[in-house]
Amino acid sequence: MTPALPADFRIDTSRRIPFGKGHAVSRGWTKATAGRPMGVTWHWTATYDLAACDRLLGGAEPERRGQASAHYAVGRSFAEGVSRYVSPANRSWHAGVEQKLRWDGRPSTARTKGARACIGIETVTIGYAREGVPAGPDWIEAATPDGRHIFRVEPWTEEQIAMMAAVGREIVALWPEIGPRGHHGHHDLCPAYKQDVLGFPFARVLRLIYADPEIPDVWSDVWMPEGRQRALARLGFDPGPVDGIWGPRSDAALRAFQATAGLEVNGWWTTWVCWAVHDREVGGTR
Ligand SMILES: [Zn+2]
Repeated sequence: MTPALPADFRIDTSRRIPFGKGHAVSRGWTKATAGRPMGVTWHWTATYDLAACDRLLGGAEPERRGQASAHYAVGRSFAEGVSRYVSPANRSWHAGVEQKLRWDGRPSTARTKGARACIGIETVTIGYAREGVPAGPDWIEAATPDGRHIFRVEPWTEEQIAMMAAVGREIVALWPEIGPRGHHGHHDLCPAYKQDVLGFPFARVLRLIYADPEIPDVWSDVWMPEGRQRALARLGFDPGPVDGIWGPRSDAALRAFQATAGLEVNGWWTTWVCWAVHDREVGGTR
């Protein structure tokens, strides 16, 4: 059960990034997206707390001044809360370099890349297990979009999920055109380069944002290569043995599925592939 927000919950806007030269914020949305954001990009901070993210990105003199920002950063507890650095009416610089895809999984161009077209939300997690960052017993296993690397990821907290939903509701109130399919991870935009946010609880967050418990979980069954192989086999695309090892046959099966589904043929298991598998299996376009 997701806990209710505290009665005095408020998004903290005191660390707003000012406009002007040298600041990682741009006014309004561009003509390339008809003056509005097209989607929401979820990130993780790779920090232990919100204060560290605030120092990196927030206010007039952040450590990454003029280089990177985000619209929001969601802490791990109600006590930490949520910071808003950039109004969703303006653009934050949140998706960095190597943005191969845009909000709908199509190739991105300079004018339609993530930061120019999507709202960026940081969520505080330390990210994946690595040297100096040991995995806890409850960490999530999830593979990269190319299926070849598996990471162990720190899970998001219950209070954080409630706050992520509150942020999502603030965005959707402003931009109701952004539906459940407008949400993706930084790893979806930069599938060969970024790991955030592998293992993200999309279904839980979206069900809360849109107050719709019927939004399907199209993600968690296919976090790992074995689940992806099973899905391809069910759909009639032979991935080779269902063994969790993503080799050339699995890659070819994914590409064949992408071609049939009208997706970009790139061998990356993105959130758009997750939705396409769902659509094939239940015949919906929810
Ligand atoms: Zn990111």
